[in-house]
Amino acid sequence: MPTHAYAAQSATTPLVPFTFERRALTPGDVAIDILHCGVCHSDLHTARSEWGPTVYPCVPGHEIVGRVREVGSSVTRFAIGDLVGVGCMVDSCQKCQPCADGLEQYCDQGLTGTYNSKERTPPHANTLGGYSDAIVVSHKFVLKISHDEKQLAAVAPLLCAGITTYSPLKEWKVGPGSKVGIVGLGGLGHMGVKLAAAMGAHVVLFTTSQNKVEDARRLGAKDVVISTDAAQMKAHRNGLDLIIDTVAAPHDLDAYLRLLKLDGTLTLVGAPATPHPSPSVWALIGKRRRLSGSAIGGIAETQEMLDFCAKHEIVSDIEPIEMAQINTAYERMLKSDVKYRFVIDMATVRGPA
Ligand code: NAP
Ligand code: ZN
Ligand code: ZN
Repeated sequence: MPTHAYAAQSATTPLVPFTFERRALTPGDVAIDILHCGVCHSDLHTARSEWGPTVYPCVPGHEIVGRVREVGSSVTRFAIGDLVGVGCMVDSCQKCQPCADGLEQYCDQGLTGTYNSKERTPPHANTLGGYSDAIVVSHKFVLKISHDEKQLAAVAPLLCAGITTYSPLKEWKVGPGSKVGIVGLGGLGHMGVKLAAAMGAHVVLFTTSQNKVEDARRLGAKDVVISTDAAQMKAHRNGLDLIIDTVAAPHDLDAYLRLLKLDGTLTLVGAPATPHPSPSVWALIGKRRRLSGSAIGGIAETQEMLDFCAKHEIVSDIEPIEMAQINTAYERMLKSDVKYRFVIDMATVRGPA
């Protein structure tokens, strides 16, 4: 299947047009015409080889929405024309305990990422992601979308930013009565605010950007804290049950650990290129606090999140872009200047009509 895409050819050069062939459909596969793809900070980390060696050419993109073009002979859950999504994974071993428990993202053999991973079957090609006009994916990793089609572009970011914040909110049983902190109002952070508010929590948003305060309240935060202001931070000491840290750069974790109640949890979802300074033991033992991490979410949980969002009329706040604007979008993302997710209109991948 001939496919048009944008690829990084090295860590230091801009993304450029690129064409390649998708694999032929196997009986369990679904072929999807990609209509929109969100731009996650992980795309930038990978395109620039910030997380260990990237295989080039690299086609990023794992917030994929589109329409089913063709289904393999054994696929029964999807039909031609269905609106579907693909997130950060396209395969896993399907045998280990985490996979059996629907936690494919924690597969003991390692998940197969939508890009920059080796396919599990010969010839073990490097996976190429959603900055492209088509993809072939095992039906097990395809999600159903029940939002109105008009909202499709704004649904794309749910496939990564949505599930990455939904999963820890569920894991730590957030609901009415919970006080939840979200650190960073970017792609993940703004979904975290919307989802935690929809679950009934009291949301406190921590930002470095004064110009995002009003938006944070509109998105559902009850309190907004400028994290560089020590007095504002201190006012929330020992106050939070859970903090989800989405920041893509290294920073002092103690400042957030100290805001947790007894037995509270700070969970890291942001994955900076270089480590955070080590947290102090005292901030942890002083109130039996916990420091954890969380990766995206399993396929069943991703479907649950999409259905939750459809029911609660939740989508992402997006800035639609054309494919050729991707390099400028990356530069703006690095300046925390996105409100709040860029989404590529894949009709533009071949250039202006
Ligand atoms: P993003 O849109 O760029 O948002 C990150 C936000 O962090 C920014 O908007 C900014 O918010 C804040 N920030 C950035 N630099 C900062 C700095 N130097 N100090 C303090 N705050 C800073 O990125 P994203 O797409 O949401 O992704 C965030 C991180 O999560 C990335 O590292 C990404 O790779 C990772 N990620 C992890 C998973 C997972 O499964 N765990 C999944 C997806 C993404 P304010 O302007 O409000 O301060
Ligand atoms: Zn992502
Ligand atoms: Zn597994």
